Amino acid sequence: MPTSRYRFNPEALSYDKIRLGFRAVLLRSFAYFVGSLLVAFVYYLIFAIFIDSPKEKALLREIDQLTLQYELIQREMANIEKVIGQLEETDDNLYRTIFESEPIPSTLREGGVGGVNRYKELEGYDNASIVVETTRRLDNIRKKVYMQSKSFEELIELAMRKEEMLSSVPAILPISNKDLTRTASGFGQRIHPFYKIIKFHAGMDFTAPTGTEIYATGDGVVAYRNSSKRGLGNHIIINHGFGLTSIYAHLSDFNVRIGQKVKRGDVIGYVGSTGMSVAPHLHYEIKLNGVNVDPVNYYFNDLSPEEYERMIEIASKTGQSFD
Ligand SMILES: [Zn+2]
Repeated sequence: MPTSRYRFNPEALSYDKIRLGFRAVLLRSFAYFVGSLLVAFVYYLIFAIFIDSPKEKALLREIDQLTLQYELIQREMANIEKVIGQLEETDDNLYRTIFESEPIPSTLREGGVGGVNRYKELEGYDNASIVVETTRRLDNIRKKVYMQSKSFEELIELAMRKEEMLSSVPAILPISNKDLTRTASGFGQRIHPFYKIIKFHAGMDFTAPTGTEIYATGDGVVAYRNSSKRGLGNHIIINHGFGLTSIYAHLSDFNVRIGQKVKRGDVIGYVGSTGMSVAPHLHYEIKLNGVNVDPVNYYFNDLSPEEYERMIEIASKTGQSFD
C-alpha cells in the first residue's frame, strides 16, 4: 500500500509530495481490510456452496446410510405391526369369545401417549420426519405389545378358571334317566300335590324307586346336609362355586358328609320320599347367585339336542309336582 501521493504543480511544473495524515492512513487501511474480507467471503461462499469438503462428503454418505437404515427399520416395523394386528384379532374374535369376555376396546389398544409432543426434540432437522415417524411407530408397537401381553395373562387366568368352571357347573342329570321316563315335573307353575293349588315349583322332579343312586351334577363341596321330616325332607346342598349351588331333596339316605369334596357323578345319596313328598322321587334345584334357575337348561353334558327337546316337552307338561 503506498504511503505517499504526489500532486502535479502546474506553476512549478513538478510533482509535489502530498503528506497523508495518520487518520487518513488508518482509514485507508481499514477500507483495504474490509475489502479483502469481502472478497474472501465471496470465495468462501463459492467453495461452500459448490464444493464439498472431504469431511462433508463423509457426513453426507453417513446420512444416506442412516436414512436407508431407517427405511429398513420401518419396513421391519410394518411386518411387526402386521403380526401384532393378527394377534389382536385372534385375541378379540377367538380367545375372548371362547371365554365370554369382552374384547379389549380399540381405544385402549391404540390409545396414544397424550399431552405434550414427545417428539419435539427430534424435530427441526432435515431428516426429522423419518426419525419422528420411526420413533412414533416404535412407541405404538411397544404399547400394543404391552397391552397384548396383559391380555394374554388375563386369558391364561380365564383358561385356568374355565377348566375348573366347566367341571363345576351342574351339567348332568342327577339320576340315571334312560329314555327320560323318570322326568316327572319341571320348573315353573305346578299344582301342589298337597295343597292342590297352583304353586311355583322351583326345581325338577324325577320319579325313581327308593334307593336309586343320586349323583353330584358338578364338582363342588357338600355345603349342607339336613335330616328332616318336613319340607325338603333329607336333603343335600352342594356348592359348586361360581355362584352355583344344587339341591337334592326327599332322600332316603346320604352318602356324603358336610364339607366333603365331590366330583361330578359321585353318588351322594339315595332316592326316598322324606319330607313333603307324595311318592319316592328326587326333587332337584339349581341356584345361580341365590336365585332358582330352570335345571333343564343345565343338562348340556348329558343330553343330545333331540333328548333336550323331549326333556323340555316332558318337563313343561303342566301337571302336578311331587314336591
Ligand atoms: Zn319337586
